[in-house]
Amino acid sequence: MLPKRPPRDHRVGFIYSPPWRIQGISVGGEQTIIQVPELGVNFDIGLCPRIALAADFTALSHGHMDHVAGLPYWFSQRTFMKMSPGTCFCHPETAKPLQDMMGGWVDVENQATPHRIVPLAPGESHQIKPSISLLALQARHTVPALSFVAVEKRSKLKQEFAGLSQSELRGIRNGGTEITYTVDIPLVAYSGDTEMNPSLVSTEFCESKVVITECTFFEDDHRERAKVGKHLHIHQLKDLLSSWKAETVVLAHMSRRSSLEVIRKILKDTLGDEASRVCLLMDHYENRNRYEEQSRKLETS
Ligand SMILES: [Zn+2]
Ligand SMILES: [Zn+2]
Repeated sequence: MLPKRPPRDHRVGFIYSPPWRIQGISVGGEQTIIQVPELGVNFDIGLCPRIALAADFTALSHGHMDHVAGLPYWFSQRTFMKMSPGTCFCHPETAKPLQDMMGGWVDVENQATPHRIVPLAPGESHQIKPSISLLALQARHTVPALSFVAVEKRSKLKQEFAGLSQSELRGIRNGGTEITYTVDIPLVAYSGDTEMNPSLVSTEFCESKVVITECTFFEDDHRERAKVGKHLHIHQLKDLLSSWKAETVVLAHMSRRSSLEVIRKILKDTLGDEASRVCLLMDHYENRNRYEEQSRKLETS
């Protein structure tokens, strides 16, 4: 008899929530990388699948290895592919250890890999697209941790100038009067590993179009595990969903302790109707159905 083939690991999960693609691999404790190509950002990089290379930025939520291990490889492969050096955002307390790690690789490989490590304190942000910045928020985990929200700055016409023609507006502007003001529009939020904390109900999280959140535990007798590891449990998600306006809420970092069948059932039982806007990043079967439904709708419209 032939020996069994090894399991097919590392299949990339994929969810389309227009205009955002959310793709990646995430299993609690093992590995997490979640990419939004339209933002050019990887959220965490516990491993470095090929898709990760295309993003210019990696936003690290915290220093656990299941979120960091792919980072030196990402820097290195981008150089190998003749791409510009990647930029990694991280918590200020994680920045030096990461620099030291990259220094260690210089000794291991006997060559230096170009890289940029940019610390972001909670409340600080960094531009990632001409009108989009990535804002860091305080998360609460067993080590210093951040959540991130991509925020667009959009300029709007001031109310008092509404209804005026283009030439009238130009005249006013040329006269030195500011006719627009800017508003912050939260686009995509990522929780990273965290227990319940105020950032999760901040305006940025509540108003985001897409929320990608960890939800490590589902079963009732896993509540204590969630508490000890400072992770979220599905019963907390129920409350969060009533605050989040997001059209799509993507759950990641699920523990392997619960099977997909069990998780699907608990989701429906716990969240009721709210479950319809919740997707599991690693539920390939449901996500393929969702995608096929989306393409059918597009064909008939
Ligand atoms: Zn983790
Ligand atoms: Zn962690």
